[in-house]
Amino acid sequence: MFTANGYYGLLKSNYLFSDVAKKTAAYSQAHPEAQLIRMGIGDVTQPLVPAVIKALHAAVDDMSRMETFHGYGPDYGYDWLRSAIVSRDYASRGIHLDLDEVILSDGAKCDVGNIQELFSADCVIGVMDPVYPVYVDTNVMSGRAGRFSESKGGYEKIVYLPATSENDFVPSLPSERVDVLYLCYPNNPTGMTLTAAQLKKFVDYALENNVLIIYDSAYEAYITEADKPHSIYEIEGAKKCAIECRSLSKTAGFTGTRCAYTVVPKELTAVDSFGKTVSLHDMWARRAATKFNGVSYITQRGAEAVFTDEGHAQIQDVIAYYMENAHIIRTSLQKAGYTVYGGINAPYIWLKVPGGDSWAFFDELLDRYHVIGTPGAGFGASGEGYFRMTAFATRENTLLAMERITSGR
Ligand code: PLP
Repeated sequence: MFTANGYYGLLKSNYLFSDVAKKTAAYSQAHPEAQLIRMGIGDVTQPLVPAVIKALHAAVDDMSRMETFHGYGPDYGYDWLRSAIVSRDYASRGIHLDLDEVILSDGAKCDVGNIQELFSADCVIGVMDPVYPVYVDTNVMSGRAGRFSESKGGYEKIVYLPATSENDFVPSLPSERVDVLYLCYPNNPTGMTLTAAQLKKFVDYALENNVLIIYDSAYEAYITEADKPHSIYEIEGAKKCAIECRSLSKTAGFTGTRCAYTVVPKELTAVDSFGKTVSLHDMWARRAATKFNGVSYITQRGAEAVFTDEGHAQIQDVIAYYMENAHIIRTSLQKAGYTVYGGINAPYIWLKVPGGDSWAFFDELLDRYHVIGTPGAGFGASGEGYFRMTAFATRENTLLAMERITSGR
């Protein structure tokens, strides 16, 4: 008899962004005249840069000719794209990676969810709190999280590491057993990031305790301060304990085009549930070969352009545009009397909610200013009392939203 995976039933009833979307839709229906400004969901608004568009067009043409047509590509990605990634994203920062340590995918969301196929069933998961919800929910689905506990404000079996203004958004090392630790820097949702010295503490802890770090650096392109690491592999020893997930979604506006990659160093070994020492790289490669037929040729050609000098310069302009929005949001909210964090090395601004109720603040902002953000409580118990605004809106909408908030109208 078929039985369904009961762990899905343990997921908290709604996904944060669908709650926000539902509330927004209901408000919009009741107030059709309201000109809403969306600063909630982290999606980009600026089009793909010209170098990418040119490469995409050329790749479409390739597909129209017998001599340049492409069917199935390599499961892990074309070598020309993997070598462009290795040289521009890693060699340029003094990190040596073999080309086959980089495995392409159609999104970091899939990768951070799928990566747990490498974990044994009884691994204890640690996450920062607040947290990008995908890390937790995917582990709930596979039975590693236990039930949601209202008193804990989280899942029974998950270890949460609070990151709040009290610890300057740098969580303490776990004080109980953790086998896999998800770290996200620059952080979604807080917009904060770590110095190399702070990140080194996590790497040293992982090496000493045989912990696997899943390092999500989807926002590394937004780092503006020189002392902040872009990759965990800038820290000595990290190749022995960390997997890094990256995405072109926010780096180059690929949210709708879909291209990401995960680095699993060959040095990364672990003892499996049968007591055998295994290579996580070989396992991840095997997984890709078995379950994935690669990112489309057209997309990979577009992605390749991101790593050319021309494409790189163009995406830097787009990133600068969003970071100018972040600056406008930060300074406007400060002027309006709010305490704000983030927005310097990430396109997210995390503000302290007066009164502390983040869903009430969501309603107030929507109702008074017609501005939509994301309540911190949706990212975890330690997110309560905070609110996320994104810098991805157009300049015009960012200025308008800030004008409404600062003028109190
Ligand atoms: N990781 C983090 C921290 C994110 O915020 C997001 C998207 O918002 C993703 C991963 C997903 O990236 P992708 O579009 O590549 O699936």
